[in-house]
Amino acid sequence: MNMSEPTQFSTEGLRGEMFHNEPMSRHTSWRAGGRAKRMYRPADLADLQRFLQLTPADEPLIAVGLGSNLLVRDGGLNGTVLLMVGALTELRMDGEHTIYAQAGVAGAKLARFAASNHLCGAEFFVGIPGTLGGMLAMNAGCYGGETWQKVQRVQVLMRSGELLERTPKQYEIGYRHVALRNAGKEFFVGAWLQLESGDVEAARQEIKALMEKRSASQPLQLPNAGSVFRNPPGGHAAKLIEGCGLKGRRIGGAQVSEKHANFIVNVGGATAADIENLIEEVRETVLRRTGIELHPEVKIVGERI
Ligand SMILES: Cc1cc2nc3c(=O)[nH]c(=O)nc-3n(C[C@H](O)[C@H](O)[C@H](O)COP(=O)(O)OP(=O)(O)OC[C@H]3O[C@@H](n4cnc5c(N)ncnc54)[C@H](O)[C@@H]3O)c2cc1C
Repeated sequence: MNMSEPTQFSTEGLRGEMFHNEPMSRHTSWRAGGRAKRMYRPADLADLQRFLQLTPADEPLIAVGLGSNLLVRDGGLNGTVLLMVGALTELRMDGEHTIYAQAGVAGAKLARFAASNHLCGAEFFVGIPGTLGGMLAMNAGCYGGETWQKVQRVQVLMRSGELLERTPKQYEIGYRHVALRNAGKEFFVGAWLQLESGDVEAARQEIKALMEKRSASQPLQLPNAGSVFRNPPGGHAAKLIEGCGLKGRRIGGAQVSEKHANFIVNVGGATAADIENLIEEVRETVLRRTGIELHPEVKIVGERI
């Protein structure tokens, strides 16, 4: 990962790395957007706990995984990014059918780890290019599987540094939505996933088939953030967008994909404003022509220039 020069914390017992004025285009799959004033990559969970204990209570904080569902406006983030990827990476069996994974573990790694431990039900994670933390925050899913269906309990870190566990019943969970109890004030740091015994070869075949299906239907060669809008009840955002003749519509370096109408791709040099303006134009056009209001699935954060 290409990052600005880190400041090492040698004092106060911190072991992670602090980056200043870090371009978020390096940490988001759209490869666009502004800078974070600070970014902290903890050495491990204990280090993140310590960092939060030392951080002033009014410092704005945001957790970022692989940035595959995130648009950071061009004016950047006036606060500290907690970078989970490359930091919270523990992944282990915890009982016969239970996996404990930390928030920075990527979906593909999780799917393959489950299959190699003769467990089924985690195959769909292979298609989601995010971290477990991001998948929990979004209730990410595909091909009939959803993250929270597999969760036995989650491990949550409060910004005070307190670590606690919660069960799915303690959250309001919906389609690509989880009502976070205190956004910016608590973070997912791990989860126990409950899976079933199964045929490892069948799980591997399923993973391979899902990967092939994805590359046939998605514009994976160009930077994107997956589906931009949630599907409306009983409908498909992509069909509505295509039906309005918006495939190929372009603002600056942002374009509605020709391959999948619910994807916006960065065809080169897109600013976050290009992407956000195109999202707004698509939303307005679909509403005007069909009466259906699409709601973005991607998270848009930060300051406008
Ligand atoms: C090619 C492509 C295909 C995709 N396909 C799918 C799909 O099939 N299904 C699907 O659901 N999504 C899909 N996505 C979207 C994306 O991968 C998921 O939403 C994923 O869960 C985001 O994870 P992330 O680690 O990248 O999160 P980020 O983009 O880094 O963050 C997303 C949100 O989660 C929050 N967050 C991140 N980590 C934590 C944490 N530890 N604690 C609390 N909040 C946190 C962030 O603050 C932000 O609000 C796709 C994206 C791409 C680029």
